[in-house]
Amino acid sequence: MKTSWALVGGLMSLMLLTSGCQAKKSNSAASSSTQAASLQPVKPKKQSQAKPWHQYQKNVNIPILMYHSISQGNSLRVPSAEFEQQMNYLHKHHYYTLTTAEAIRAFKTNQLPQKKVVWVTMDDAYKDNYTKALPIIKKYHIKTTINYITSFAKHHNHLTLKQVQKMRQTHLVEFQSHTVKHLDLNELTDQQQEKELTDSKRWLDQKLHQDTQLICYPAGRVNNATARLAKQAGYKIGITTEPGMANVKQQGWYNLKRQRVVPNMTTAAFATLLQNN
Ligand SMILES: [Zn+2]
Repeated sequence: MKTSWALVGGLMSLMLLTSGCQAKKSNSAASSSTQAASLQPVKPKKQSQAKPWHQYQKNVNIPILMYHSISQGNSLRVPSAEFEQQMNYLHKHHYYTLTTAEAIRAFKTNQLPQKKVVWVTMDDAYKDNYTKALPIIKKYHIKTTINYITSFAKHHNHLTLKQVQKMRQTHLVEFQSHTVKHLDLNELTDQQQEKELTDSKRWLDQKLHQDTQLICYPAGRVNNATARLAKQAGYKIGITTEPGMANVKQQGWYNLKRQRVVPNMTTAAFATLLQNN
């Protein structure tokens, strides 16, 4: 799959839980942090390989897939065998996987690198994203955005900063903000929301030497002030847990819908999530 790293520089159904990624965490999602330690980072593609993007008349729709833990046990967890089938499907059907910067470019210019695109996101940064998802991400060359809770860096079930850095070295995985403490933003005062948004961005910007562009709202919950505060904090784009195809013209930059991947999906159901016509 061709990538344009120049830019980087810069169902669904009854099972849908309104509780988003707040499902109870248990030890079954924990796994060894050493399994993936021997993975070799791959070299980034050269900038010169970037192809021109295609202009579209209709407002572009982008399917943003939402994953959490790659394990099993509840409706938010997708077993690794299923995750592998799905990533294999994207690879086999020549889907172009977007980074945050590429998604922003797509919405801003109404252009896509090709018609079949998808943005793969994973919330909460569980340790199994490293031990289980990363080998699959590398095998099928899937660009992935992991939404990180910055105060969870030392939680045993979540990715450490060292693991984050190892994953980034693959040039396939990037990290964006899922706030500091994973609180329901709609229950906070403006001042508290501002702190959650600003402090998590600053942490990621400093630790990862990047300009963090994406805010993923915990449990998808926001109030009337959230979009304005996210913009003020310096984010360019915000994603929710509302089901549907992301479309900036319809939803705005800070309230984009996502497609939830649940366990036991058929291939046909998974394919339906990707239809961006
Ligand atoms: Zn979450």
